[in-house]
Amino acid sequence: MSVTSSPDAAAPPGAAQSPSAPALPGWKHVSSGKVRDVYAPTGDGPWAGRDVLLMVASDRISAYDHILTTPVPDKGKVLTALSVWWLKQLADIVPSHLVSLDVPGEVAGRAMICRRLDMYPVECVARGYLTGSGLAEYCESGTVCGLPLPAGLAEASRLPEPIFTPAAKAELGEHDENVSFERVVDMVGREAAEALRETTLALYARAADISGERGIILADTKFEFGQDPATGALTLGDEVLTPDSSRFWPADAWVPGRPTPSFDKQYVRDWLTSPACGWDRRSDQVPPALPDSVIQRTRQRYLEAYERLTGNPLEPTA
Ligand code: ATP
Ligand code: MG
Repeated sequence: MSVTSSPDAAAPPGAAQSPSAPALPGWKHVSSGKVRDVYAPTGDGPWAGRDVLLMVASDRISAYDHILTTPVPDKGKVLTALSVWWLKQLADIVPSHLVSLDVPGEVAGRAMICRRLDMYPVECVARGYLTGSGLAEYCESGTVCGLPLPAGLAEASRLPEPIFTPAAKAELGEHDENVSFERVVDMVGREAAEALRETTLALYARAADISGERGIILADTKFEFGQDPATGALTLGDEVLTPDSSRFWPADAWVPGRPTPSFDKQYVRDWLTSPACGWDRRSDQVPPALPDSVIQRTRQRYLEAYERLTGNPLEPTA
């Protein structure tokens, strides 16, 4: 949930250890985040001269602000297929950056060719439930991103209505900062700020309804938007409603007042904090490799998230 894991995950110190992105013919690597590698077309490839980016989701997984040394097989495919599926469910609300899935064979199934957008430097977070950095601010001041909330809410409380809780996008290695709506107005202008808020809340409402029908609570999620450079139109970018950008909770595990186990990363977190692992999350040490059983169970959780949300198993990539 700042961010790529959830609205509250921080860009980790580990983001600087940018893992090696594969060389792809027709594309040059331009940047890497915790999980994704971004490429631009070369002058001699099939997309030469087009204003597009190739966004590749790796199998890297992060936890407690570290990129773990052990990847989770198929995670990149799940993230990509889920984003694509959600974009279809949301297409009538806002146009998206997705252009084509005809990507190099090396990254088939886990990459999208996207229109390059002029991104707004705002992480557009919607929250329907209180947890993470939202809960921390509420406990201190009774507000989230400056919005006053009723007294008596606790961990995992359902909010009276979903709220827009923007964050200013941080430089690599810094934490994103929750900001007020007025700060977004200062950053992007009132008209754009209002469009970001209304669109974020409309997307959240649709996605929370769809998830709810499938027994999954969408506690919060983060969208990123940009302007299409050709038309100026507000356009949905980045990844959409993946477990890395959202908190999905199994509805049957939700107990207000108690932390809800994460749908996807719980086995990883449980293991990293177990005595058997022996890692101290307050230390500067890099977490040890995950045992195979934890990797396999986590992989199953990602596949299950895809299947539960979309109603279909993930198609194997040819
Ligand atoms: P983190 O790992 O914390 O998420 P990050 O957000 O920098 O770091 P990625 O999510 O992998 O890493 O990187 C994707 C980057 O590309 C983000 O900066 C995002 O804002 C940007 N982006 C996403 N979609 C587009 C687009 N269509 N055009 C231009 N930039 C985009
Ligand atoms: Mg990101």
